[in-house]
Amino acid sequence: MTTAVIIAAAGRGSRMGGEVPKQWQPLAGKPVLAHAIAAFAGLPVVLVIHPDDRARAEGLGVRLVLGGAARDASVLAGLEALAGTGVTRVLIHDGARPLVSRALIGRLVEALETHDGAAPALAVTDALWRGTDGIVSGTVDRAGLYRAQTPQAFRFAPILAAHRAHRGGALDDVQVARAAGLDVAIVEGEETNLKLTWPGDFARAEAILRGQGMDVRLGNGYDVHAFCAGDHVWLCGVKVPHDKALLGHSDADVGMHALTDAIYGALAMGDIGRHFPPSDPQWKGAASHIFLTHAIGLATEAGYRLANCDVTLVCERPKIGPHAADMQAELARIMRVEADRVSVKATTSERLGFTGREEGIAALATATLVRS
Ligand code: MG
Repeated sequence: MTTAVIIAAAGRGSRMGGEVPKQWQPLAGKPVLAHAIAAFAGLPVVLVIHPDDRARAEGLGVRLVLGGAARDASVLAGLEALAGTGVTRVLIHDGARPLVSRALIGRLVEALETHDGAAPALAVTDALWRGTDGIVSGTVDRAGLYRAQTPQAFRFAPILAAHRAHRGGALDDVQVARAAGLDVAIVEGEETNLKLTWPGDFARAEAILRGQGMDVRLGNGYDVHAFCAGDHVWLCGVKVPHDKALLGHSDADVGMHALTDAIYGALAMGDIGRHFPPSDPQWKGAASHIFLTHAIGLATEAGYRLANCDVTLVCERPKIGPHAADMQAELARIMRVEADRVSVKATTSERLGFTGREEGIAALATATLVRS
């Protein structure tokens, strides 16, 4: 089964005001539509646009189809674009809803196992009135009433046939499906799945985006330094007596370098060499805590804290075990985190390879950064 997505974005959205239609207005730094497209990551998206918006849409990286005069004509244009591509399920979405969750997509796709269609909705919980000229003129029984949302999900062939047969004027795709006799399951919708309609909705959507769970980032780092003549090595900020030293431009603290690169990696901000070029003489013999402090500082500036890190040193000698607790404590001190968020461990390579022949030490590190 292959699932594709149609995002209807050809509307002009007159209620919102503003120079550009609401689906193209910025929300948390990018167009509303870019959020909607991102929500369907990994699925092919057909974006149905108004011809006037072609230039705006070109950078979004999805297939573009020109819409019709009304919403249902636009959706039909999207469906026709997918006909014959092997798609078996389609999610039809309103481009003015930027906050679709993966959980909601999952519930919809699952419901298609047993139904022709499935659409999210929320049961009406407020009392419903009729009003005339600002005066309550009656009440409406809310039992069995739902507030409909999108995406609305369908098996592809029946919804294509339903749209082709429909005479037009439908408010949404569920109406088209029902007119063709398809059964549409109601799936639990989400209060956060807002439809941006009024100017104040943007502030609500931004607040939801800000509070939407945490951003977790994982990075890895790897480093190697060769042995040279000497009587100690620096490993994870601890001076360890040894019958050799490590060769390097800085203090050659291979473990701290791997960890620093893991943090830069989690931030997608390059590596030590980018921030501290080895060609720059001012870093000659530098203590590596400068690098680690810099990486953690970048993380802090970007709003991230270190959730944990794990460093593995690969060497036959010196023995790391007796120093591991000191290394943990020193890394934690530099990064200003609790020591139980820092792991330092070691392995030999069974006398194989360059580490096994004691030509140098290798280190691997993983770091998890969290922004909440
Ligand atoms: Mg290094």
